Amino acid sequence: MQSSALEYLRCPECRGHLSIHRTTKRNGDIRSGTMKCAKCDNQYPVILGRPALLPNMAVNTWQAPVDEALGVVPGTPVNGLLSLNRLKEIGIDRAIEQLRNRNMNTELIESDPNAVTKELLGKARYLDSGEWFKHKGRAKRLLSFPAEGGVNFDIFREFMNTVQRTEPEYLIDLLSGGGYGVTHQAFQNRALRRIAAVERDLKCLWNIQYRFKHIGRSSISEAIGGDVRRLPIASESFDTAMTLQGLVELHGISRFLQETYRVLKQDGYYVALYSEDPVTFDIIPVSDLRKFALEANLYTGHEHFISAAEKVGFRMISTKALEGTRGMKRITVFRKI
Ligand SMILES: [Zn+2]
Repeated sequence: MQSSALEYLRCPECRGHLSIHRTTKRNGDIRSGTMKCAKCDNQYPVILGRPALLPNMAVNTWQAPVDEALGVVPGTPVNGLLSLNRLKEIGIDRAIEQLRNRNMNTELIESDPNAVTKELLGKARYLDSGEWFKHKGRAKRLLSFPAEGGVNFDIFREFMNTVQRTEPEYLIDLLSGGGYGVTHQAFQNRALRRIAAVERDLKCLWNIQYRFKHIGRSSISEAIGGDVRRLPIASESFDTAMTLQGLVELHGISRFLQETYRVLKQDGYYVALYSEDPVTFDIIPVSDLRKFALEANLYTGHEHFISAAEKVGFRMISTKALEGTRGMKRITVFRKI
């Protein structure tokens, strides 16, 4: 992590400015240290070069959105793809009842900051070294720039070009996953001067940063541990935000949209690629999932997504339907006006 990132990184709890202490550096990069909020005193670690700015000091609490909505105890194994089997077993109506009855204040789960466990550190070292890419043909698949093909490649390329056409200098990628989308944008779009990739699953951060390094863009790019519903990012600090899929893995769509809107500069763009319908993997009917998703603030489908975005202030500039291998996809451009 470079110290210049502190210009736009903020406390996820109160948006206070952060100062950094007890740092160790390597070639000018901060490798470890503690970021401290000037306003609320909360502290956040830099772990092997990556800032981890999760609310409530959570370390790594990704759950399938269905489980998160239902208040399933963290650590419970996912039940089928995206835990949709759990919905099927409970039944939609009972699941909705369960939603309504539970205390809604459990969205973010506290955990011990010292749980930046040996396990995570061990994984981080392995990923940071790039060793992970050397196995199972991953380098060929994941470190080939420019992208050469693959499933829905035309859609991917169209999305990449759409992001580039918004002409950002400062780009933020949300729900980055392994960072495939953002690193390809970093590769093809040489006008970018600052790139932030926010992902909640900390293990992904070293993979993302390794890719930035691989294409020679790490000096302007940061993979950041953060929750998109409480972004550790200063308001009005980016020109364009992008999400490549990922929405179906999110509980709290409207809060995510509010946060995306907040961190964009005036007239900034948000470009999203997503499935037109919520993804069910044929486990339950789309209409059932839609009913539950609407109630639980999960991804409900294209139309609802547009109206949720408009509700937080975005204006839809364009939307394009594209035939994907598993149903229709959408590329939609919003603007903060
Ligand atoms: Zn704070």
